[in-house]
Amino acid sequence: MDQSLQPTRRQFVSAAIATAGAAFIPSRAGASPDQSSAVITPHLTGRANEKVTPRVQPFPLAQVRLHKGPFQQAQEADRRYLHSLPSDRLLHAFRLNAGLSSSAQPLGGWEKPDCEVRGHFAGGHYLTACALMYASMGDSELKEKAESMVAQLAACQKAHVDGYLSAFPKEFFDRLRQGRDVWAPWYTYQKIMAGLLDMCVYCGNDQALDMAERMAHWVDHWQDSISDAHMQRVLQTEFGAMNETLGDLYAVTGKRTYLELAARFEKVMFLDPLAEHRDELKGLHANTHIPQVIGAARRYELTGEERYREMAAFFFDTVSRDRTYCTGGTSYDEHWRTRPGELSTELGKTAEECCCSYNMLRLARHIYGWTGDPRVMDYYERTLFNSRLGTQNPETGGMSYFLPLGAGYWKYFNTPFDSFWCCTATGVEEYAKTGDSIYFHDDRAIFVNLFIASEVAWPEKNLRLEQQTGFPEEEGTALVVHAAHPVDMALNVRIPAWAAGGAGKLNGSALPAFASPGSYLVVDRTWKEGDRLEVKLPMRLAIEALPGDPSQQAVMYGPLVLAGRLGSEGLTQEMVYVGAQTFPAGEAIPAPAVRNSSQDPLGWIKPVAGQPQSFETVGQERPVNIIPLYKLFGERYVVYWKTRYGAA
Ligand SMILES: [Zn+2]
Repeated sequence: MDQSLQPTRRQFVSAAIATAGAAFIPSRAGASPDQSSAVITPHLTGRANEKVTPRVQPFPLAQVRLHKGPFQQAQEADRRYLHSLPSDRLLHAFRLNAGLSSSAQPLGGWEKPDCEVRGHFAGGHYLTACALMYASMGDSELKEKAESMVAQLAACQKAHVDGYLSAFPKEFFDRLRQGRDVWAPWYTYQKIMAGLLDMCVYCGNDQALDMAERMAHWVDHWQDSISDAHMQRVLQTEFGAMNETLGDLYAVTGKRTYLELAARFEKVMFLDPLAEHRDELKGLHANTHIPQVIGAARRYELTGEERYREMAAFFFDTVSRDRTYCTGGTSYDEHWRTRPGELSTELGKTAEECCCSYNMLRLARHIYGWTGDPRVMDYYERTLFNSRLGTQNPETGGMSYFLPLGAGYWKYFNTPFDSFWCCTATGVEEYAKTGDSIYFHDDRAIFVNLFIASEVAWPEKNLRLEQQTGFPEEEGTALVVHAAHPVDMALNVRIPAWAAGGAGKLNGSALPAFASPGSYLVVDRTWKEGDRLEVKLPMRLAIEALPGDPSQQAVMYGPLVLAGRLGSEGLTQEMVYVGAQTFPAGEAIPAPAVRNSSQDPLGWIKPVAGQPQSFETVGQERPVNIIPLYKLFGERYVVYWKTRYGAA
């Protein structure tokens, strides 16, 4: 291990907290007590060990606060859910596995004490979500709950003696080594390491970093006697983002051992074709592989090796362009089953898996950081507003597994204590970190990428930027500068590819020029307190055909996928379990085909008078009401309409 030139772990964490301590957002009038407390969260760390200087970088989560709107509502529902889970139930299987006593009531679903991925949520994603929520909202109570869990997990790790920490026995890894059947031991182990690392990065928890390092040492020992060829066989079984998490551990500690260890978790037969720009994804399990590409992206940032950038950039392009539905989501029945650009067979109950969208968005953030390309954020927006926002039950905070895109299905959600799917797990992280991609910056410019009511603090410029918007119900946004002293800055506002024109006003006066869709509107000037930039972004209807089948057509309104409402007859939230997968009980009902007798592809749809963002079919057997998919709950729906042209 090469530690000689690196700061010690304790020095590093202290420095990170000191840096971030000055960066909290001043309280607003009417802010909740949680929001008004000073946040001393260290921001994402490890830049010192990165070889690639990003073109733009996100503001630390602790410097962004959401304001009233659908994302704040989702964040609150998520926070309530995180609070509602009892620590002793989350820790139960870890304690038993360490030989410690526990009388807590076991959790169900994927956290059931006989489920092979138990612990993935309870000791992994849960910690990450709490850490992110603390950074996003300053929720100290949740931080303390997670810190207490870290301390109790440390007792479990101590009982294992050798650094191992999991809710299942080491024997699972023996089965993996021997090629015997086992679900996904490294996947689960990685979630726990990542949860601990996030507790260090976002909450300054020294003990959690120490535990993550001990876990990494156990990994090092396990793989030490395994040949490269044998390791490649091991990597046929889902292993999450081991390469990313070990890379992050290197970024935080500067210990090169972890970077070397990360390279052991590179599945050659998957990554090599990507480096050569070949889409050989057909047949692969989607969410097994997307995280591996995030790991490759991270490796590019940490080493500067262009090959890894190629893998990530090509993968992002091919999936987002050729393997993605109108919602931004990807995968059918958890897999890519077809050639690129061919989704005609891929509509049904199990299109698309929510984890895939979560991880594709994480990958997109890396790509955007390298390029500053607003088109990446077009993708981000579409996926966020259609595949993420609408897949959380706004009342319970429950998450979807699949977002069914076959006509006549409906959305369904996990139960609080008896599901804990992979998508529950990524979902609780998602809504705890919405603030991480709204604003990016370089040395003298802010990039406003998402239209979400919020504010961001930029302490280096002594500046706060407030975004006032009701988007997506409002077709535009307004940005207000708060600065004690005038500041030179370029304010860049993404003008989405979907924008049907647009206009800007600065302090009430029309801007002389506007920007093209798919670029940034740049207003570079000396900004002063109260300056207000208003941007109008008109939405319009557009048809988007299913890749590979022009007769199956979805309707977009701006970035929003629209869905036809087919009623709630026979709809149930009851679940059917088939292996690891969960489906709602019941089948689809047929959706009406659409006949379009006009030349206009949109000839069969018209707005409903007096109801914004509400439409209906015209010239059909019966009219069907059509609204944004993200708003539709408790009803069957149709996204892709079977469309026939010509007279009846
Ligand atoms: Zn999932």
